[in-house]
Amino acid sequence: MNYFEEYCTEFVQSIGSKEGAVSPSIVNSASFAYATPQIAEGIFDGSIKKPLYSRMGNPTTAKLETIMAKMDGGIGAVATSSGMAATTLACMSLLACGSEIISIGGLFGGTYALFSETLTRFGITTHFFDVDEFEKIKNAINENTKIIFLESVANPNMRLPDIKKIAQIANDAGVALMVDNTITPMSILPLKLGADIVVYSTTKIISGNSAALGGCAVFRSINDGEDKFKTPRYKELHKFIKGVGKMALIANAKKRAMRDFGMSANANSSYLTMLGLETLPLRMQRIVNSVSIIAKELSENGLNINHPCLRTHPHHERYLNDFKNGCGTFLSLDMGTKEKAYAFLNKTKIATITANIGDSRTLALHMASTIYRDFDEDTRKFLGITEGLIRISIGLENPKDIIKDFLAAAN
Ligand SMILES: *Cc1c(COP(=O)(O)O)cnc(C)c1O
Repeated sequence: MNYFEEYCTEFVQSIGSKEGAVSPSIVNSASFAYATPQIAEGIFDGSIKKPLYSRMGNPTTAKLETIMAKMDGGIGAVATSSGMAATTLACMSLLACGSEIISIGGLFGGTYALFSETLTRFGITTHFFDVDEFEKIKNAINENTKIIFLESVANPNMRLPDIKKIAQIANDAGVALMVDNTITPMSILPLKLGADIVVYSTTKIISGNSAALGGCAVFRSINDGEDKFKTPRYKELHKFIKGVGKMALIANAKKRAMRDFGMSANANSSYLTMLGLETLPLRMQRIVNSVSIIAKELSENGLNINHPCLRTHPHHERYLNDFKNGCGTFLSLDMGTKEKAYAFLNKTKIATITANIGDSRTLALHMASTIYRDFDEDTRKFLGITEGLIRISIGLENPKDIIKDFLAAAN
C-alpha cells in the first residue's frame, strides 16, 4: 500500500507543464525589468502581480512555494536559502526584543543554538521542555510568549510529540504553534493538527540527493472571524491583516524577514528541489518501510536501536496511533562508547559518514563528536546525546544489504 498516493499525482502534474518546456524553467535573473513607470508603480504597490526583485520572489521559486503550500494545506509558503533560514524567517517575523519562545522536544543542533545562544543576544528568551511536560509548558506561557516550537520527530532522540494536544494548549493560550516538519513531510500535516506555521529544511528528504540546500515556511490563512493573530499579542501583524487579510502571515514574513534579512532561495536550488518533490512520495514510502524492517531486525540481533516502531520505545503507542505513515528516515544506534561507535563507522561499507539525513543513500554520523560537540554535558543529556550514539538515515538501498552490512560492522 502507498500511503502517499494522492501526492504522487499532485506533485508530478503540478511540476510539469502541459505547454512548452515540460521541466520547470529556471529564471536566473536577480532583477526584473518593469517596462514602464506605471507598471513599476503597480508592482511595488502590489496591484500588479509580477516579479519585483529576486530577493523578494522569483518565478521558479514561486512555483515551488505553490506546491509546498498545497502539500501542507497552507495559504502560501516562502522558500528560503536553507532550513535554518526558514526557521529564522518564521521566528524573526513574529518576535521582538522581550519575546519568549517555548521549545518542545528535540532539538536539531542549529535550532537549539539559534534559540539558546543567538536569539538571547537580541533579548529573546527560550524555555525548553521535553515533549510530555504538558503542565510545565502551560505554566510557562505568559503575555510575552509568541511562539511554541516543536519538531514533528525529535532529532536525534526520536521522541514523538502529541502534536494535537500541544496545538490545543497553544490555541487555548492564543499562542502561535510552529512545527519543524523536516523529518515527516506528507506523513504528518501539522496545519491540519492545529499548528499555524510549518517549517522545512528541503535539503533533506524533499530534495533527497544532497543536490540543493533549501528551506521553506508554510503559513495558514488568517480566519475571517476570531483569530489568535488578531489579539494584542500579535499587534505588529494587525496592519498586514488589515491590508491583505487571509495572506497576512505571508506578507509579514516577506516584509519583516525576507526583505530585510535576505534569506531568499535561488532559482537553481528551487528547480532541483522540485525535481526531488516529483519522487518524494515514492522515496518516502520505500524508506519508511525499510526503516522499520531494519530497526526490528537489528534490534532482534542485539543492537541498541532507538526507534518508536520498537515495542520498548516510550512512544510506541503514539507511533502506532498518530504516526501511521512512519516517522521519517532515521533511527539511532547506541554502541555504548565512542570507541565502539568509531569502529562501527570505520567498518560499515554502505553508510556514508556525513551530517545530513533523508538522502537516497544511507548516511551515518557520530553525534557527540560532531553536531553536538560544542554542547555541555547537561544539554547533551537533555537532548539524548550519549557517548556511543550514531544517527543513521536509511536510504533507498535494499534493506537486506543494509542489515547485513550493519551486523558485520557492529561485531
Ligand atoms: C537539517 C535540519 C534543519 C536545518 O536545515 P538546513 O537546510 O541544513 O539549514 C532544521 N531542522 C531539522 C529537523 C533538520 O534536520
